[in-house]
Amino acid sequence: MQPENTAIHEYSELPDGFLDATPETLCEVVPEPALIHLRGRREPAVAVVLLLHGNEPVGLHAIQQLLRHYTHRELPRSLTLVIGNPQAAAVKQRHLDQQPDFNRIWPGTEQPGSTEAARFERLVERLRQRGLFAAIDLHNNTGRNPHYACINRLDPSFMQLAALFGRTVVYFTRPRGVASMALAELAPSVTLECGHPEDHAGVQHAFEMVDAVLHLSAFPDHPPAPNAIDIYHTVARVRLRPGMRASTGTDADVRLEPDLDRLNFQMLPAGSCLVRRRPEVEDPLVVHAEDGGEVTGTYLETRGEEIRLRRDAMPSMLTLDTRVITQDCLCYLMEPMDTASLVRGAG
Ligand SMILES: [Zn+2]
Repeated sequence: MQPENTAIHEYSELPDGFLDATPETLCEVVPEPALIHLRGRREPAVAVVLLLHGNEPVGLHAIQQLLRHYTHRELPRSLTLVIGNPQAAAVKQRHLDQQPDFNRIWPGTEQPGSTEAARFERLVERLRQRGLFAAIDLHNNTGRNPHYACINRLDPSFMQLAALFGRTVVYFTRPRGVASMALAELAPSVTLECGHPEDHAGVQHAFEMVDAVLHLSAFPDHPPAPNAIDIYHTVARVRLRPGMRASTGTDADVRLEPDLDRLNFQMLPAGSCLVRRRPEVEDPLVVHAEDGGEVTGTYLETRGEEIRLRRDAMPSMLTLDTRVITQDCLCYLMEPMDTASLVRGAG
């Protein structure tokens, strides 16, 4: 790929074939990352990011449902679609092997320098020029998780935006380079985790959320009521050390219980067993704190074959999908935040 190939395709109306495209065929309509600007009654636009991960179709399905809903009717507010990675969607992958993860290379990234990173920098600049009301990045995940919203700032408008989706809210500042963090510079911004890729309720939930935000005239300047949302702070990310393999098989370096993902969003006391290790492998997992420092010994301890939590924590994104575990991580660890003090402090 040529380094100068960082232009962003922009459409001022819906390209032909968009409404009938599947994630696999969208690249025939929109071949590369692109902006699609659709005019509505109010300005500035709500930006909705979809298919940033090619194997997470909820965004495309929710937007198709929304646009069908508004057939022959004006949108309540302008809508800008940010088309993420149609090439990866064509082959149902998070990203192509030669590509970086498209939700790690937005401005603020710790992996700068790629053609794709330059392209997303351009894209954010274009959104800045046009102005933005709010940004919503739509994702699926593997494993059993509730639907939840993620925010990267604790401003009242961000908490209000998240509360429109549900009461479970995750606050994180790592990894860097995610879309919602870059777009937080422009407007209240969320990442929405809408359950498993086959979860139709996730599509409906995302559709209702986008429609609700399109109808807002402004964000309340006060935070949600203290009992309206539960905010969890991501404190650490658990990954495999390079070369390690995780699976439910008995020969794996890291052995996963078949129902491991039932632990997602459960508060686990210190001493709880997370996974087991093959006795020959010393230290198969590595834990990094939000600031990037290694904190494996703070959060995990090994007792025989068991790798246990060393302190109380709540996992999220635990999955049995070995590809996701290798490409991304085994899970995140979270701690509840004191919403009442937060809301008082944020006033
Ligand atoms: Zn994703």
